[in-house]
Amino acid sequence: MAPTADTHRFFRVRVTAITDLTPSFRRFTFGADDLAEYGDPGLDQRIKIVFPTADAGLDAMPTGEDWYTAWRELPESARPPFRTYTTRYVRNDAREVDVDMVAHEVSGPASEWIARAELGDEVLIFAPTTAHTGVSYGIDFVPPAQVDDILLAGDETAAPAIAAILEQLPRDARGTVVLEVPHEADTAYLPRHPGFDYRLHARGAERHAHLVASVTDAAARLAPAGRGADVEEIDIDTDILWEVPRTAKGGAALKSARLYAWLAGEASAIKALRRHLVTDRGVDRRAVAFMGYWRLGKAEV
Ligand SMILES: Cc1cc2nc3c(=O)[nH]c(=O)nc-3n(C[C@H](O)[C@H](O)[C@H](O)COP(=O)(O)OP(=O)(O)OC[C@H]3O[C@@H](n4cnc5c(N)ncnc54)[C@H](O)[C@@H]3O)c2cc1C
Repeated sequence: MAPTADTHRFFRVRVTAITDLTPSFRRFTFGADDLAEYGDPGLDQRIKIVFPTADAGLDAMPTGEDWYTAWRELPESARPPFRTYTTRYVRNDAREVDVDMVAHEVSGPASEWIARAELGDEVLIFAPTTAHTGVSYGIDFVPPAQVDDILLAGDETAAPAIAAILEQLPRDARGTVVLEVPHEADTAYLPRHPGFDYRLHARGAERHAHLVASVTDAAARLAPAGRGADVEEIDIDTDILWEVPRTAKGGAALKSARLYAWLAGEASAIKALRRHLVTDRGVDRRAVAFMGYWRLGKAEV
């Protein structure tokens, strides 16, 4: 369903709790009276969070139906920055929403806000409303109805989405989770699903080395061997690395598959993983969703 003023809107929320879950994952609980209307389509539903800066407060954010065009038309210094996050939990009755954010080194507006945020601080969240029904295009986990194994792989920015997916999958789902996180203690962040094999790694000297090695290893077990289709080269510094196979109506592109892979995180790693699965192992590209959540050295917008 395409966003409209009824089905998606901005919620102005304040921080009501800050919980350090592990060294890298900080949970922000947001409250506002109208969060009874915050929609929760589930899984890896993405949202936008607008962060106030010294130059551009939240009141400067255009919030009408065509907010993005109005925002683009503002002079750059007057634009409140926004970044993409994942809804973690919604408690409509308590009028609360949780978002888990990676506390990485301060390098952009989100990380700066995360490092300094205090109770009572405000942000805007652009999210579905409870009036939203049907297919959500903000959900990128769209597996075939019948799938033998699911591969979920990513870095710390993908962990909140992976956590939500794991909690919502049926108990008889089967698969492998590969996650690379900054610290050993961050591996405790993911909820455990009885049907999944967990390959969780603290980052070593080389970023993505564990992620790529573990996905390669998992793919050797889960995917039929053989060379598959070549994938088009995507320039991750100029183009968006993003493909979620769907039908025209938004459902899964395949009815059944041996393996469904969901890959999200830093773009260079995701590009390598996708190529390995589709080209080196012959996994049907209609069964591989891949999302460059961020790019090393490049701001999101
Ligand atoms: C669909 C989607 C869902 C997401 N969900 C979540 C989520 O639930 N929780 C979450 O924490 N993040 C999530 N992210 C990632 C988040 O949007 C980015 O990490 C974002 O760039 C952070 O903004 P920033 O202002 O800190 O940095 P930017 O201003 O965007 O970038 C500034 C610099 O910081 C670097 N940078 C950005 N992110 C990181 C990082 N994680 N570690 C190290 N360096 C970084 C950039 O490469 C750049 O050099 C999601 C992204 C997408 C697309």
